[in-house]
Amino acid sequence: MKYYSSRNKNLRITSMDAILKGLSDDGGLFIPEIIPKLPSLDKLRNLSYIDLAGLILSMYFDDYSQEEISQAVQAAYGERFEEEVVALRQDGNLNFLELYHGPTLAFKDMALTVLPHLMRTALKNKGVEEEVLILTATSGDTGKAALEGFKDIDGIRVIVFYPEDGVSNMQKLQMISQKGNNTYVFGVKGDFDDAQAGVKEIFSDMAYKEYLQEKGYILSSANSINIGRLIPQIVYYIYAYIELLNKNRIEEGQEINFVVPTGNFGNILAGFYAKKMGLPIGKLICASNENKVLSDFFQSGTYDRRRELIPSSSPSMDILVSSNLERYIFEVLGKDEYLTERLMNELKDEGVFSWENFKGGEIYGNYASEEEVAKTIKEVFESSAYLIDPHTAVAYSVYKRYREEENDDRPAVIVSTASPYKFPEIILESLGEKLPEDPFDGIRKLSKLWKKEVPGKIRELEDSPVLHKNTIDRGEMKDAIKNLIEVDK
Ligand SMILES: *Cc1c(COP(=O)(O)O)cnc(C)c1O
Repeated sequence: MKYYSSRNKNLRITSMDAILKGLSDDGGLFIPEIIPKLPSLDKLRNLSYIDLAGLILSMYFDDYSQEEISQAVQAAYGERFEEEVVALRQDGNLNFLELYHGPTLAFKDMALTVLPHLMRTALKNKGVEEEVLILTATSGDTGKAALEGFKDIDGIRVIVFYPEDGVSNMQKLQMISQKGNNTYVFGVKGDFDDAQAGVKEIFSDMAYKEYLQEKGYILSSANSINIGRLIPQIVYYIYAYIELLNKNRIEEGQEINFVVPTGNFGNILAGFYAKKMGLPIGKLICASNENKVLSDFFQSGTYDRRRELIPSSSPSMDILVSSNLERYIFEVLGKDEYLTERLMNELKDEGVFSWENFKGGEIYGNYASEEEVAKTIKEVFESSAYLIDPHTAVAYSVYKRYREEENDDRPAVIVSTASPYKFPEIILESLGEKLPEDPFDGIRKLSKLWKKEVPGKIRELEDSPVLHKNTIDRGEMKDAIKNLIEVDK
């Protein structure tokens, strides 16, 4: 299996190279040249999550040995998840696929627990001698998941930049208390776009990269455009389907819909690949918050990022340029690399592209307002004594709208991307509860309402010392990296 660039199909490389590079030099994203077909579901029905993940990853990453893949999935999903890797919770006709039982309590763990092991193996097999600096700008969840995933991995340092004004209290606490001898965290003054733009600038500064190389460092990214993040996310779509089969809630071959709270389009794209592999998926429902670029795109065929970013209660979806959309466009355009490049250049240069005759096909897009999110959190709690976080509430709100508009009663799975404990303030407010001053009193209040124990990972934050106190301007990011290299060497 080879990977080529979405902007140049002649550029074909192995999965190890694609994982190490992250992004192609021509600006394109790496795409598997064939999407493999699933074996019959009967063969998969008795597999554990770890074994299923091993099987799917081997189909895509065939330059890794079976043993290397087994070790990677074991290290990722073995002990680091609380109880089950993923849980499927039934609520009447609906199913919530909880992807937040990993070490950082958000779905980013599904890929970022395994990516570091894939990367380390690739570094070893390729004989890379430089130390790798993983640079990550985060809107909240990726940063912590990358820190935990790469913590104490030899030959790699992980550096996270988070926007001072753009993450939740718990998300921030999780990051600034991070342990590990190779982890670095900086607050950047401004919003996510500032942090993101700063990181992009570093990646495109040739002189700076030469300086790093001389010092013995190379740059890489744990961003969701890395194919090593996308493929592991296919697994839980298949797993969810098999769980429903095993519980006799669907029949083999019956189509089901997935509703996905979407930002950078990585999660839902994995669902699209699962469908291409032969999983009986009907609709993929793409749910946006008030930053509804994708919703507009799927309704009109025009993608227009020329608007202000609106900070919302679902910060991990506050995004105007959904990088992974390029892979979807490439596939839907019949793998036309020239047209893909043209549209992407229009987006870069003009801030907008239009696609005449575009039909979303298997993807339906819509969005939820902040008011709807709060209402939905309250409604679900009152009817089912079940809590959902604001991202999941975006998905559920959009699903309700979908059901009003379309006559489609196929079973649906709401992809639940974060633990409610990461957003106690918003949830308490939505429920009409008073906000305690101390955020941990808020956590305890939530726990009492939900009658569910606070996860250890949240509890331990209360007494964790702050280990990362640095706040910098966007213009100081390069110097911050320079300092940490010069001081440590
Ligand atoms: C990252 C994230 C999303 C958005 O996922 P994408 O793959 O970027 O579309 C949704 N919810 C939560 C909690 C997240 O952390």
